[in-house]
Amino acid sequence: MTVLAIPRLLDALRAVCGAPPVALHEPRFAGNEWAYVKECLDSGWVSSVGAFVDRFERQLAAQAGVRHAVAVVNGTAALHVCLLLAGVRPGDEVLAPALTFVATINAISYCGAKPHFVDSSAATLGLDPGRLDAHLRDIARYRDGICVNRVTGAPLRAVVPMHVFGHPVDMDALNAVAEHWGLAVVEDAAEALGSTYKGRPCGGLGRLGALSFNGNKLVTTGGGGAVLTDDEAVARHAKHLTTTAKRPHAWAFEHDEVGFNYRLPNINAALGVSQLEQLAGFVAAKRRLAERYHAELAGIGGLSVVGEPAGASSNYWLNAVLLDGPEQRDAVLEATNRAGYMTRPVWALMHRQPMYRDCPRMALPVAEDIERRLVNLPSSAILGERP
Ligand SMILES: *Cc1c(COP(=O)(O)O)cnc(C)c1O
Repeated sequence: MTVLAIPRLLDALRAVCGAPPVALHEPRFAGNEWAYVKECLDSGWVSSVGAFVDRFERQLAAQAGVRHAVAVVNGTAALHVCLLLAGVRPGDEVLAPALTFVATINAISYCGAKPHFVDSSAATLGLDPGRLDAHLRDIARYRDGICVNRVTGAPLRAVVPMHVFGHPVDMDALNAVAEHWGLAVVEDAAEALGSTYKGRPCGGLGRLGALSFNGNKLVTTGGGGAVLTDDEAVARHAKHLTTTAKRPHAWAFEHDEVGFNYRLPNINAALGVSQLEQLAGFVAAKRRLAERYHAELAGIGGLSVVGEPAGASSNYWLNAVLLDGPEQRDAVLEATNRAGYMTRPVWALMHRQPMYRDCPRMALPVAEDIERRLVNLPSSAILGERP
């Protein structure tokens, strides 16, 4: 194990990012944002019905290689709706990585289900399909088309892979495990718009996929999200559920289930249409930035740069390094933030959060190791546009 020379890391950050202060991730509005938002205001159609919503949904579906996209108010709402449409019910368990943003796990709770934590793969940082399969062999039984946790008695209904920092999970392996055990696959692709796995876009690789357009994501609508699916009936139900489950009628207010007010306003979709027009440029800039980090950090001992998994093309939403050991992590975070380069540790693992402490889980050695050693680096698209 090599000790990292922190001044060398600061030099590399200066070489890649320029002079401080440098944010972790800033939005970039270099296209038709002003024109489309103005068009939206001029037309009076600012709320949850409007031409930009339809246009945004068509654009998203094409981008993700699916037939249908339903735009919603944020990524967490998208996940919530995906899980409901995947059949998750109160009392179920849903398999999900311990190494994720809390929204993945909160959405499971909103359904009245319990998260069941799965370890990560060192190669992808995402859920490890092989270890998941071994764990299920240990604790689950499959009967009458339902996978049940033998220990808790609860149905294991679905699995939620999350593409960490835009690096795709090994989805072929995961889909095979899910099919074997009868689990619905809900992709949390919040960080992976523009990433591909074996040439196929993330978000369209499971039964349902969720995207986020929060201000810190690659493409932003201020706040926003989307449900992705190939299934027309599921898409129709997603629209219904997210518009208070109101039955279509010229004037009557009739609702046939407990729905949600989750539709994306037209004014946010106007931003989204313009942002999506720039997606290819954003991804190219992010990949250029990742290349520069690789080049500048390659010669520095004591860390390794996180790269895309084999067979995948990542959007590099957030760049990251893994320190050789955990001892220097806090010193690195201290020194870089003090110097004006915004760096962050990865999320504290979900089974450490008080509300999820008692949830079922497998052994999590890889996630725990990543948690102790990972540091995210400044990753705005604009940094990749520097000459
Ligand atoms: C951003 C994010 C979300 C949620 O998105 P919001 O739009 O902020 O609700 C969900 N999962 C992951 C992994 C995310 O990074």
